[in-house]
Amino acid sequence: MKIVVECEKCHKVHEVDISMDVIGSDERNMGEEVYYDVYSDIRCTYNNLIDVSVHGSEYLYGAGIEIHEVNVNGANKVN
Ligand SMILES: [Zn+2]
Repeated sequence: MKIVVECEKCHKVHEVDISMDVIGSDERNMGEEVYYDVYSDIRCTYNNLIDVSVHGSEYLYGAGIEIHEVNVNGANKVN
């Protein structure tokens, strides 16, 4: 999964590659809901540290991960 951000220092657009880490799961009516927490950081050419954290979950395997929260420091998220 990639998060696209615009750097606060150089205003360039960077892609931050994140890999989903499972932090837990809950048993629900129709199956399992799996929670993800992701953290990644990059340093741009201007030595600005950009960090991205994402919280999401997937209810029923294969349904796709639903993103609940994205926090970006050092840059602004681009949609
Ligand atoms: Zn930058």
